[in-house]
Amino acid sequence: MADDTEYRQIVYRLLPGSREKARRLAALAGACRFVWNAMLDQQEQLVAAARLAGADRLPGVSFFTLGKAFIQLRRITPWLQEMPCAPVRYALRYQADAWQRYFREEGGRPKFKRRGNDSVTLPQDIRIRDGKLHVPKIGPMTLRRRGGNPYPDGKPVRAVIRQVNGKWYATVCYRVASVERPDDGTVTGIDMNAGQVATSDGEIMPAPDTGRLEARCKRLQRRMSRQKKGSRRREHIRRRHARAMRRMAMKRRNWQHHVSRKLAGGTVVVEDLNTRGMTRSAKGTVGEPGTGVRQKAGLNRAILATGWSDLRAMLAYKAPRLVAVNAAQTSQTCAECGTVDAASRPSQATFKCVACGHADHADLNAARNIRRRGQARLHGEGALPSGTPMIRETDRRLAA
Ligand SMILES: [Zn+2]
Repeated sequence: MADDTEYRQIVYRLLPGSREKARRLAALAGACRFVWNAMLDQQEQLVAAARLAGADRLPGVSFFTLGKAFIQLRRITPWLQEMPCAPVRYALRYQADAWQRYFREEGGRPKFKRRGNDSVTLPQDIRIRDGKLHVPKIGPMTLRRRGGNPYPDGKPVRAVIRQVNGKWYATVCYRVASVERPDDGTVTGIDMNAGQVATSDGEIMPAPDTGRLEARCKRLQRRMSRQKKGSRRREHIRRRHARAMRRMAMKRRNWQHHVSRKLAGGTVVVEDLNTRGMTRSAKGTVGEPGTGVRQKAGLNRAILATGWSDLRAMLAYKAPRLVAVNAAQTSQTCAECGTVDAASRPSQATFKCVACGHADHADLNAARNIRRRGQARLHGEGALPSGTPMIRETDRRLAA
């Protein structure tokens, strides 16, 4: 790793300390939302006008152009002038990014924000003293977290303040000196599939069972839909629903930390997520095209539930090295002889090579293929045919 600094994010509860401060914090978050919506409205009008005029190019949007428009808006809106400028303007950085993603067809059109669960980003000059975060123009607010700040020497560079279900949280991003992570010389390929992680060492780690919590969420949601909007009962159920959702998220997160800690001794090879959607149909079996839509939706939900991107992010900072490889056909390739054949996959769970007869759990076989591709990448050579012990030696040399 060439960089000698890294970034870490820590989530704290944020305690405003007084009703007045809480009110002002909510007003600041509201201002961010107001500016987002006002600028989005303006932008929508520009786009509509360009379309009407038959322009072949839509007007460009960047943080710079939005920033200029913001200055105009601020000039004619007195109450906005009372707000700290940088955090409010920073909402437009997110909007500019959203527009750019939309133009690149990587994301949906930016949407108007509704009241509730607002957020504010403090983009610079973060001041934390005696466990209190200074919010510009409002004052210091207590940061609370079990275990305190794990990076006392880190420099806070950014903070995102959010209101979730009536409580305030601050995610503080620290710049920290990177630590040398000892590499035990192993290379582990992992196959992330719906609800589990399979490793090239032959281990399957199932994701926690959230079935009961999910059922409760569904039940509460149904009850909520029957209740009158804005009623006290509905609010009560909404809170219970939010709590169940949160418990589910925490359960997943805990599992991800355990799995990533366990895997992070050496190099970890994962499949490149960007190639996933294109290269793998539902659960790796290419069969019955057109009928897998429902299952695919279910799979996507399961993938979401397992939180691949979160797990990857954890591996990226816990493991000495993370390698992403194209996962095309890893589920149809024999890890022993290298034969690629869809027929080697008689069912979801099993792999049986049509050429050499090698049989294994389908995901364990895939994990070994992923490991091999990672190794090919590391050594800059083609895929080796087989033989795990020999490759391990090479890994040690590579790590040395
Ligand atoms: Zn084979």
